[in-house]
Amino acid sequence: MRTRFRGLLVREGVLLRGPAGWGEFSPFWDYGPRESAPWLRAAREAAYDGFPPPVRDRVPVNATVPAVGPERAHEVVAQSGGCTTAKVKVAEPGQGEADDLARLEAVRDALGPAGRVRIDVNGLWDVDEAVRRLPAYDRAAGGLEYVEQPCRTLDELARVRRAVDVPVAADESIRRAEDPLLVALAGAADVAVLKVQPLGGVRACLELAERCGLPVVVSSALETSVGIAAGVALAAALPELPYACGLATVQLLRHDLVDDPLLPVDGALAVRRPQPSPARLAEHDAGVDAGWRWRQRLDAVGRAAAGGGAA
Ligand SMILES: [Mg+2]
Repeated sequence: MRTRFRGLLVREGVLLRGPAGWGEFSPFWDYGPRESAPWLRAAREAAYDGFPPPVRDRVPVNATVPAVGPERAHEVVAQSGGCTTAKVKVAEPGQGEADDLARLEAVRDALGPAGRVRIDVNGLWDVDEAVRRLPAYDRAAGGLEYVEQPCRTLDELARVRRAVDVPVAADESIRRAEDPLLVALAGAADVAVLKVQPLGGVRACLELAERCGLPVVVSSALETSVGIAAGVALAAALPELPYACGLATVQLLRHDLVDDPLLPVDGALAVRRPQPSPARLAEHDAGVDAGWRWRQRLDAVGRAAAGGGAA
């Protein structure tokens, strides 16, 4: 990683190759076998089934601004490949409201008046804090497109949504596609953030999008271009795509596994599946010990996926 993100400086994963192409399996190490089972289903879909047909050939994407200082935030937007939407991380542990507001002002300045600014709280506020802080964040950003996961639970999101004018997006709340959850989601959020690996693949996400009835923002789980291609395939297959997607995250990695990475041009990613190059695969081989850990993990996750029932 170029900057610590989700506490990470190194990103590890496994690529699967099948008749339909390459798939990425890269659950974070704090995920157990059951939680990682959808990630494996997503990788297998990519490798064995391929993706459903696209209805568009480019996917608008947002710049992602980590919890950095205002000067760096300005640079990230300016160097984002023409993105006119920025997602800004806020509520970073160890930082305060003044840090967030300065970052938001810098991002608005870099985007100009026509740009869109959204924030991601990753569930770190309680309801009172969210209701108290959002008006100031909205002002500093020159208008917020939406706030992503201001609190942890769907019930809390619903209470924030009733109390503020800023639209609410659910991200971490959407990890299972059960009907009671989808009904609650409809009352708690204006936007659904869907990630292909944690939700079990492109087709599983398309079905979830249809059932929840909310506009969708496709986001990454910090994959290489191989995994990002699955997110692009989902965004390309959705009937409606009213928001820029969070798929321009390859820049957060210092290295990629393909020669032609999925980087934005004029604020959008082309709909395509870049292939990993043998030289890059050899260069970024994590070594024998890591290979052994991942082989054991794949076995455990494979068993959980086989015995894990309908989920
Ligand atoms: Mg998020």
